[in-house]
Amino acid sequence: MTDTATRVAPVPAGLPDAIRHYIDGAFVDSLDGDTFDVLDPVTNETYIRAAAGKKADVERAVAAARRAFTEGPWPKLLPRERSRVLHRIADIVESRDQQLAELESYDSGLPITQALGQARRAAENFRFFADLIVAQADDTFKVPGRQINYVNRKPIGVAGLITPWNTPFMLESWKLGPALATGNTVVLKPAEFTPLSASLWPGIFEEAGLPQGVFNLVNGLGEDAGDALVKHPDVPLISFTGESRTGQIIFGNAAPYLKGLSMELGGKSPAVVFADADLDAAIDATIFGVFSLNGERCTAGSRILVQREVYDEFVSRYAEQAKRVKVGFPHEKDTEVGALVHPEHYEKVMSYVELGKSEGRLVAGGGRPEGFPEGNFVAPTVFADVAPDARIFQEEIFGPVVAITPFDTDEEALALANNTKYGLAAYIWTNDLKRAHNFAQAVEAGMVWLNSNNVRDLRTPFGGVKASGLGHEGGYRSIDFYTDQQAVHITLGEVHNPSFGKQ
Ligand code: NAD
Repeated sequence: MTDTATRVAPVPAGLPDAIRHYIDGAFVDSLDGDTFDVLDPVTNETYIRAAAGKKADVERAVAAARRAFTEGPWPKLLPRERSRVLHRIADIVESRDQQLAELESYDSGLPITQALGQARRAAENFRFFADLIVAQADDTFKVPGRQINYVNRKPIGVAGLITPWNTPFMLESWKLGPALATGNTVVLKPAEFTPLSASLWPGIFEEAGLPQGVFNLVNGLGEDAGDALVKHPDVPLISFTGESRTGQIIFGNAAPYLKGLSMELGGKSPAVVFADADLDAAIDATIFGVFSLNGERCTAGSRILVQREVYDEFVSRYAEQAKRVKVGFPHEKDTEVGALVHPEHYEKVMSYVELGKSEGRLVAGGGRPEGFPEGNFVAPTVFADVAPDARIFQEEIFGPVVAITPFDTDEEALALANNTKYGLAAYIWTNDLKRAHNFAQAVEAGMVWLNSNNVRDLRTPFGGVKASGLGHEGGYRSIDFYTDQQAVHITLGEVHNPSFGKQ
């Protein structure tokens, strides 16, 4: 049992006294003074209070963003001028990566080493879009001697960005980078479980020289601040990452305004292991794929399908390795699985762990890890022999819990892989090239990794099909989402008008 004295993380440097909104270049409280509690995932005690934004706060933020869009310099700057600011943002994030990671880990329960990786990825996101916006080739089409047509890419206006609590800082950068690079102004509504890291953006942006009013932040509950942002008539586009159910609500609320929508939603992604696969690599990758980031990963390979010939060996080796995954306090460097984000989420994950005991064969974990009587700690949990209609096979658990199911043929594996409402990612392990590519073509998933873990180049599209999302972001798809593409047609020389009204 761990000594109580070492249980609570040292308070990270840079922790503010409260979390406020940031509107038109200033930190402000809610107009009605309301706040909500933010809990430390290790103790479940309130460690800070955050401003609870409502419709009136969202209106202030949208008005500021709208003013910065119509009157301010940002949308009119040359791409290379905006690019310079984005590079400075990346430099600042990089130079503060350790501090950012400590604050993020403290707020979310993510293991510190993984939070550090996420902070660095956030810097990369800004750098990537800083470069892309300059490299973006103009679309010009010429009909020699007759016509030039070109595409005038214009920022759209105030982008509403609504983000979840898993890897919050990195996911915010994923939306902020392209939205700002293309000249939009923004209102960010971060998740209420993890508002801390979003409140660090203002300092970074001010130092990098982002003009006043371009970035605005409203904290608060989804049904208050999030809802008001989605329904605001001066916000023409919403980029949302979160649960599929919330995506449906937002889709409905945005419909009367015909807003541009990008939705990155939930998943229950299959990892398919064929008998001819490199089992050592497949086990390492599928362990990492579901237990890293505390299992709070949208692309987690949380259903593992294993071919019968190697099933028993896979299950016993997998279970042994899962038992060795190190659960620990988020701030400790050797921790591999930290504390889940919030007691509500912990209760949800634990209810699936209990359900799994009747739906599958428990081979690892199954409750609280030894030595952690409090806080949101869950032992890495593995269920084998899970039937395809089991709830733990079908529903997103979003914690360190995995279901393993056997299959015999390629056809059966494909049917099992596609037997879910989700379609975010799929992982395929086989040394048969034809089988790998045929499977990739047929699997219903927005992203496929063949003999590979979650590594992804930032130029590739990111997104899901079915209940996992709407539209893709990443690379040029993000530039397309955050811009209007106006076509301009010019006639060179004589105008050949059809003869109308001259009879
Ligand atoms: P959530 O849907 O509960 O909340 C996400 C955000 O939406 C929060 O900021 C919340 O306040 C806001 N919100 C809630 N109700 C709203 C409403 N009615 N109107 C407007 N905003 C509202 O999701 P979560 O629990 O924070 O995040 C976990 C989910 O996110 C999982 O399902 C996970 O798979 C998904 N996710 C998907 C991706 C992806 O890229 N596909 C990435 C990360 C997380």
